[in-house]
Amino acid sequence: MLSATAIAARVRSGEFDPQEVTEAAIRRLEARDPQVHAYLDPDLERARRCADAVAETLRRGEDPGRLAGVPVSLKDNMAVEGATLTAGSRILEGYRAPYTSHVAQRLLAEGAVLLGRTNLDEFAMGASTENSAYGPSRNPWDRDRVPGGSSGGSAAAVAAGIVPVALGSETGGSIRQPAALCGVTGFKPTYGAVSRHGLVAFGSSLDVIGPIACHAEDAALVHDVIAGHDPRDATTWTGERPSALTERADLEGLRIGIPEEFLDDAVDARVLERVSAAIAQLEEGGAITRVVPKGSLPSMHLAIPVYYLVACSEASSNLARFDGIRYGPAREEAAELHERYAATRAGLFGPEVRRRILLGTFSLSAGYADAWYKKALQVRRLILDEFRALFADYDLLAGPTSPFGAFKIGERSKDPYAMYLCDLLTAPACLAGLPSVSVPCGLARKGAYKGLPVGLSLTGPAGHDHKVLAAARAYEAVRGAPERSPLQEDEA
Ligand code: GLN
Repeated sequence: MLSATAIAARVRSGEFDPQEVTEAAIRRLEARDPQVHAYLDPDLERARRCADAVAETLRRGEDPGRLAGVPVSLKDNMAVEGATLTAGSRILEGYRAPYTSHVAQRLLAEGAVLLGRTNLDEFAMGASTENSAYGPSRNPWDRDRVPGGSSGGSAAAVAAGIVPVALGSETGGSIRQPAALCGVTGFKPTYGAVSRHGLVAFGSSLDVIGPIACHAEDAALVHDVIAGHDPRDATTWTGERPSALTERADLEGLRIGIPEEFLDDAVDARVLERVSAAIAQLEEGGAITRVVPKGSLPSMHLAIPVYYLVACSEASSNLARFDGIRYGPAREEAAELHERYAATRAGLFGPEVRRRILLGTFSLSAGYADAWYKKALQVRRLILDEFRALFADYDLLAGPTSPFGAFKIGERSKDPYAMYLCDLLTAPACLAGLPSVSVPCGLARKGAYKGLPVGLSLTGPAGHDHKVLAAARAYEAVRGAPERSPLQEDEA
């Protein structure tokens, strides 16, 4: 599959017809999605309407935009007016969005073709898509395995070669972890770089939207398009925002620290082997890499409990609005209002969502908030300060994205703690609001994840999104194009 950058260039020059490009993507979706279940709603008609609009703009001789004719899929927690928006939950089954999210508006304004909405863990809570009420997605590298999550549908769609780029959202790892497990690039921007307007809220102080793409350059292009101030999201920053695409992609002289805390015992040995090889490639490219001895991130071991306290507390508040009255279906059998709320929420939220609402409500409740929620906020601050101190000496921090490769469907779903461990290496940057990318760095050679993709993580200081993406582009240039999943191999 061609990159988004190449498709847009050829559509703009008239070499490619946007309607034909769209039909080709639809054919790929129809042939491959039955094998991976990346999509909850393929919404082909909308894609065709988008393509018609681009064709019309070209006929009028006007600029069709930087993403002209590029098929892009959205995770099904981002609103597109008139389209279904389930967030992977029964509680929003059949619900249609009354307006279009900021990110979708930006994509449409640049001529993108919105091709369907992708599967996710219910309300983005999970790391495998097994918590989706509509069944799990499958990893294009091995269909008995998970694609990661919660943006697993977006990662699977890209790795299967259906679309060159899709949007994901991340609260604790949901863009980077599925990207790593599917062998594609996933970028989590600085908190506040991209508007959350029209994103179904999970943990509002953590949620961000970012691209999942085959190529780092495409991730940079799409980030450039969707980032920027939006008056509808007061947490978006107003300051200067350098382009991620035009920033010089060069590893020369880049100081890259590898905190020993990232090389935790929980990390699979074969994953570490690939990441070490990738770090050697960064060196070959001119970067100065150093392992930072244990002690630079002394609070990092608390990141998982802190993340789950903060995210669940915020989720318990955000999800209070789903009461069966304002959105989606309801359990009508209960006559009394509160009974009806309870029946709807107990019946239509899945077990993981209910667990988190209970946990969050508990940790915010009077008498417990000081011990749990407020304590978590204090440790969150320590984690941020520790990262800041590291960035005095290093431009970027590197390490594995995920402690392990794609695991088998069912392997972790019965044990929430085993599932929460997936966020070991991604949650810290989320708590600190930092920009971080996962780039594919080869396949595990041996062991439980043999032949499966491994992701290298590069994290920068807040606001350095352009630098993180430039490093990802530079790394890709040094190592060459990433391996393609078996589902893409039949392509010319
Ligand atoms: N796996 C994490 C969780 O279950 C992260 C989810 C996310 O980033 N949306 O909460």
